[in-house]
Amino acid sequence: DTADFDSEVESICPFCGVGCQISMKIKDNKVKYVEGINGPANEGRLCVKGRFGFDYIHHDHRLTKPLIRRDDAPAKGLNVDPGNYLEVFREATWDEALERAANGLRAIGGTGVAGFGSAKCTNEEAYLFQKIIRQGFGHNNVDHCTRLCHASSVSALLENVGSGAVSATFNEIENADVAIVIGANPIENHPVAATYFKQFTKRGGKLIVMDPRGQALKRHSSHMLQFRPGTDVSMLNAIMHVIVEEELYDQQYIEAYTENWEAEKAHLKDFTPEKMAEICGIDAETLRDVARTFAGANAAMIFWGMGVSQHIHGTDNSRCLISLALMTGHVGRPGAGLHPLRGQNNVQGASDAGLIPMFLPDYQSVTDDGVRSAFTEVWESGDFSAQKGLTVTEILDAVHAGDIRGMYILGENPAMSDPDVEHARDALAKLDHLVVQDIFITETANFADVILPAAAFAEKAGTVTNTNRQVQMGRPAVTPPGEAKPDWWIEVELAKRLGLEWSYTSPADVFAEMKLNMKSLDNITWERLEQQNAVTYPSLSPEDPGQAIVFADGFPRADGRARFTPASIIAPDDTPDAEYPMILTTGRQLEHWHTGSMTRRSTVLDAVEPEANCSLHPSTLRKLGVEPGEFVRLTTKRGSIEIMARMDRAVSPDMVFLPFAYVEAAANILTNPAVDPYGKIPEFKFSAVRVEAA
Ligand code: SF4
Repeated sequence: DTADFDSEVESICPFCGVGCQISMKIKDNKVKYVEGINGPANEGRLCVKGRFGFDYIHHDHRLTKPLIRRDDAPAKGLNVDPGNYLEVFREATWDEALERAANGLRAIGGTGVAGFGSAKCTNEEAYLFQKIIRQGFGHNNVDHCTRLCHASSVSALLENVGSGAVSATFNEIENADVAIVIGANPIENHPVAATYFKQFTKRGGKLIVMDPRGQALKRHSSHMLQFRPGTDVSMLNAIMHVIVEEELYDQQYIEAYTENWEAEKAHLKDFTPEKMAEICGIDAETLRDVARTFAGANAAMIFWGMGVSQHIHGTDNSRCLISLALMTGHVGRPGAGLHPLRGQNNVQGASDAGLIPMFLPDYQSVTDDGVRSAFTEVWESGDFSAQKGLTVTEILDAVHAGDIRGMYILGENPAMSDPDVEHARDALAKLDHLVVQDIFITETANFADVILPAAAFAEKAGTVTNTNRQVQMGRPAVTPPGEAKPDWWIEVELAKRLGLEWSYTSPADVFAEMKLNMKSLDNITWERLEQQNAVTYPSLSPEDPGQAIVFADGFPRADGRARFTPASIIAPDDTPDAEYPMILTTGRQLEHWHTGSMTRRSTVLDAVEPEANCSLHPSTLRKLGVEPGEFVRLTTKRGSIEIMARMDRAVSPDMVFLPFAYVEAAANILTNPAVDPYGKIPEFKFSAVRVEAA
C-alpha cells in the first residue's frame, strides 16, 4: 500500500550526476518508497536506481559504531567480511576513535598525510574535507574521484573556455536541432537525461551517436559512428577538416569570440576524411555528412562521457569537441553548448568546493598568493603550501615510495576504483595509519586502522550540485543507524582533535563560509535552497533561478575569448599485440553504481543484475568455443580475472566490455594506470587483453 507512510521528505537521488529530485515516503524510520518530483533536471522522472535503489540505507551491513583495528587482527588485506567484521575490528566510543584517528594522522603530519574526499558527500562536506588537509596539514595533497572521471574534460574546458562546468544544461536539448553524444551511454548511465534526448529525436532533432560500443541510443540516432577505440582525435579532426574545407564554419563568431583559429585551421589540413577513415574506421562520406549536419544546425549541443575523458589523450579529445563547438558557433545560445555528463551525484559540487589538488574552491589556483590569503583570512589561519598537490594515483605512488604514510579517506573506494588495483591495495596495506569514513566496510575499509561510521544521504542535510550546475538541497528523512553520524559532524570533530578551531554547528554554517570566497554561489543562500530546492549557478539576482546557458557574451578568459587548441593523434598506451590481441574497455551498467557498495546491497537492483559479467561479440564467443553464461579468463599485463561471458552484438569482435562494480571479478585488476598528462586521468577505456575460455 503506497499510501501507507508517516511522512514525506524531499531530497536528491544519491546516484548519478543528473540530480533527480525525489520524495522519500517514510514509515517507522525507514524509506518505504521513493517518487520523482518536479526538479529542474528531472520533472518528476526517475530511473530504476532512483526508484528502487535506496534500501541499501537500511542494510544490516551498515556501520553503527566507530571501529578500531584489533591488536591481534590479521595482516592488512582484502580479508574482512563486511557482515562480520568484529574479528578484525573492535567497537569503540566516538571519543576513543576520533582521538586515535587524529593522533595517528598528527603523529605523521605534514606531507606525510594525504586525503581522498568524496563526490557522494555534500558540498559542505567536500569543502570541510579540503580545508582539513590544507589548514590542518599545510598542503594540497587532497583529491577525489573526479580524477578518475572527468579531470581531462575539466582541464580542456578550463584551458579553452575558462570554466570547467557545462555551458548549457542538458535540458537545453529541447532548443537544439542537432546533438552529438560521444563516449557516453546515457540510457544506462544518465537514464533520465536520456529521456530528454529521446524526446528531442521524436520532435525531429538529429542525434549523432559516436561510440566504439553500440548502445540503445543508436535506435534513436540519425547517425551511429561506431569508431575504433581510442581514435577520437582522428575522427573529430576529420569532421573539423571538412568544416574548414567546405567553409561551413561561423566566421563572425570565430572573429568575435575566439583566438588561435588560424593555427587550428592550418593544423586540420592533414586530417582528410579519407586518411582518417583508415584510422577511425568510419567511412569518409559519413564523416563529411556528420560535419555538414553539425555545422548546418541552427543550434547544436555536444554531450560527452568517460569514453572521451578516460584516455591518455582525454584532454585532446575534449579539446577537439570544444574546437568543433567554437568553429560552428554552437556555444552560448539556446540549444547550443558543451556538456560533459558528470558521473557521481556531486562530482561537480565536490570539484567546485576545492576537493582537488590544484584548486581551491571555485577553481582558484593554489599557486596564487592572493587567492590563498583570501582563504586563510576567512579561515583565520596561517598560509599553506603554494605547490599544487598530488593527484589520486600520484598519492598512491607516493605511499609506495614511503613519502606518504597516513591517509584520511572519506567515501572513496580506491581498493576497487583505481587502475591496476593491486597496486592501490598494496599501497593501502603499507600505510602506517589509515582512517576511513564510510557507511559500510568497503574494500578500502578492509585496510583501515580506524573506521568512522557515517550517515547515508537520506540521514543528513546538505547541498549537492548536479551536471547542470544546479545546487540542490538534500534533507534528512530518517535517523542514522546506531551511532553513525553525518560526515560534516565527523569532520568537525576530527578537525578539533587535530588542533583546528572549528565551531560549525550545522551544514548551513559551512555553506555561509563557502559563499565568502565562492562567487559561483552569489545570490544562492541556504534559506533560498530550503525554500526552492534548487538554484542554478550563476544566479544573477536573488530572484533569478540561474542561468541555464553561459558564455552568451564571451568567455571567462583574457579578452573574453575562447581558444582553439589543436590536437594531434596519440596512440593508446597499451596497444594490442600477439600476446594480448584484444581491447578491454570498462564502464558501468544500468543497475549498478560504481564499486557496487550501494547497489549490490539494494534488493531490486541486485536481483536484476546479481553476477559479474563481461560482454563479447558472438563471433568472439564462437572462436573461443564459449557459450553465453560460461566463464572466460581475461588477462592483461597487470593481472587476470575469471568472469561470466555475455553475448553482445554491440561490442566489436576485437573488444571486451567489463563493468567495474564487482569485487569478485574486479575490472581494475586489469586496467592500465597510464595517465593523461594534463588531467592525470587513467586510461580505463583501453587496455590490451587476452581472452580465453576459463
Ligand atoms: Fe538517480 Fe541518475 Fe537515475 Fe536520476 S537518472 S534517478 S539521478 S540515477
